[in-house]
Amino acid sequence: MIVFDRVEKRFGDNVVLSDLSFTVAPGEHVTLIGPSGSGKTTILRLLMCLESVTGGTIQVAGKYLSHMEKGGELVPADEKYSREVRKRIGMVFQQFNLFPNMTVRGNLVEAPTRVLGLSKDEANARAKELLDLVGLGEKIDEHPSRLSGGQQQRVAIARALAMQPDVLLLDEVTSALDPELVAGVLALLRDIGESTDITILCVTHEMGFARDFSHRVMMFDGGRVLEDAPPEKLFSAPDHVRTQEFLKAVL
Ligand code: ADP
Repeated sequence: MIVFDRVEKRFGDNVVLSDLSFTVAPGEHVTLIGPSGSGKTTILRLLMCLESVTGGTIQVAGKYLSHMEKGGELVPADEKYSREVRKRIGMVFQQFNLFPNMTVRGNLVEAPTRVLGLSKDEANARAKELLDLVGLGEKIDEHPSRLSGGQQQRVAIARALAMQPDVLLLDEVTSALDPELVAGVLALLRDIGESTDITILCVTHEMGFARDFSHRVMMFDGGRVLEDAPPEKLFSAPDHVRTQEFLKAVL
């Protein structure tokens, strides 16, 4: 579902990712861990086309992300092409990023009607169903500012799912929440992970969640994959001293 092939990302002289290759299978849940600044968020931003690679290629569901094929050659993608591929990818951010001037309903129907071309009725029906799923059916006509952080994040998750993405990216989605709200959001993500076949790529500091949610955990350091293993292996018997030190510091 996701293929990174020899990806390089640099900002000026700062090489953030170098020669990075990995794949994620359909339906797989992969968690990226590692020290701050190791390039995890950059990987999600590349997948969202918020940044573009400076070397190598990325494919999602068999389509190049930053390049398109033209006359048998790979050329840089144009805006229209990127938009099409990006439709398949949903993202939930640390800071929720809901549209503050719209109701919860507005947040959920906007992209499905504008981007996917759903009718208002279809988009409304989908919004109601998803809000019930995240336990907020009765908040459909509220504005986000009237909801708690945990509720806003549930709406953001529902909004991402409303686009029926093949891939869901979760960027430290519980980091901005009060501690007592974290467990509810993680439980919701576990439910979604179990009840859908969406491919999920997740950056989190919640190691307990990473352990029981992920099929694979990738440990990053300095823009490289230091270790890539099932959670049972990575958390209990990591190969690298660097991974051991990191886990000791965060667990
Ligand atoms: P992580 O998510 O692992 O904390 P990031 O992907 O956010 O790491 O950042 C990796 C590196 O890329 C950092 O050194 C950061 O300063 C740099 N970086 C990220 N975005 C930009 C940007 N827009 N311009 C310049 N440098 C950036």
